[in-house]
Amino acid sequence: MNEIIINLHMHTTYSDGTGTHAELAQAAIEAGLDAIIVTDHNIWVQGVERYYRDGDQQILILVGEEIHDQTRNPQKNHLLVFGTDRELSHFAPDPQNLISQVSENKGLSFLAHPVDPEAPKFNQADLSWVSWDVQGYTGIELWNAMTEFKSHLTGYLPAIRYSFNFDRVAHGPFSETLKIWDQLLAKGKPVVAVGGSDAHQLKGSLGPIRRELFPYVNHFKAINTHLLLPEPLRGNLAVDKQLIYQALAAGHAFVGYDLPAPTKGFRFTAYSSEANHIMGDTIETNQSVTLQIKLPQDAECHLLKDGEVIRSSRKRVSIIHRVDKPGVYRVEAFLNFKGKRRGWIFSNPIYIR
Ligand SMILES: [Zn+2]
Ligand SMILES: [Zn+2]
Repeated sequence: MNEIIINLHMHTTYSDGTGTHAELAQAAIEAGLDAIIVTDHNIWVQGVERYYRDGDQQILILVGEEIHDQTRNPQKNHLLVFGTDRELSHFAPDPQNLISQVSENKGLSFLAHPVDPEAPKFNQADLSWVSWDVQGYTGIELWNAMTEFKSHLTGYLPAIRYSFNFDRVAHGPFSETLKIWDQLLAKGKPVVAVGGSDAHQLKGSLGPIRRELFPYVNHFKAINTHLLLPEPLRGNLAVDKQLIYQALAAGHAFVGYDLPAPTKGFRFTAYSSEANHIMGDTIETNQSVTLQIKLPQDAECHLLKDGEVIRSSRKRVSIIHRVDKPGVYRVEAFLNFKGKRRGWIFSNPIYIR
């Protein structure tokens, strides 16, 4: 498999970000990404999808959209939409209809920052997902960098501390978000998890703090989504876009926090008597299956079945575990960084039915 690193939730000057598509592309090249998906609020920006090249380096810019109902009070339900190739924001007032329209247009939809607590001291509203009766979406944004930053805004001191220390912001997906994900998975349908930066590169918008909050390049070196593709990217927009969206739809992906240490090389694989399977795959078997976890470096690592830890290890780079029961199996890994235990890798599940 060919692993690529993408960042898939960010804003430009077309909505409330401060960078242009070209500036985002430059930052993504600097961070070593393979592709970015730009998701401005309620606007599908046409004509900017392309390979952006700088010398011998290149980055694929894809364009999606973050859609929400701007007339709703209070504001909730942000939806990341990819691959529809048309504007769908007018469907926002009915989240189920919006998700159905995305599917009909062969697109993907992810519930953005599903748990997004308010930060009242800084006039930041709770923008959680609340319409939990919806169906037919691709997945959820398990880890959102800006939502986590917002959760630290409990007063001016922590706000200043975290604003000036981006590397201290991320600790991991909220336990509540992980719980919701496990509950959704327990309903029997795949729900793909992705990680997003929600990068805006805001300027001086938090009370007395006058600062560029946080440069795009910092975000692109942090919480990313890693995809496993059946073939390498070719440098062709149409072909590569298809490869990326197919991998995302299938959940051939993991969320990696690449700042403490690169997560590239992580693998979670299943070997059954018939075939090999990767994250996102479903195996239908009544025989035992061997699960293999490979870490890029030793770390605290947990194998979970149906949301419960069934095997843990520390200081190992490879774990092999045989299972003979149906279930939803996934992996979490943690590292110590900047004096704290921090989430590092969150795999998509392998489903054994
Ligand atoms: Zn949002
Ligand atoms: Zn956003």
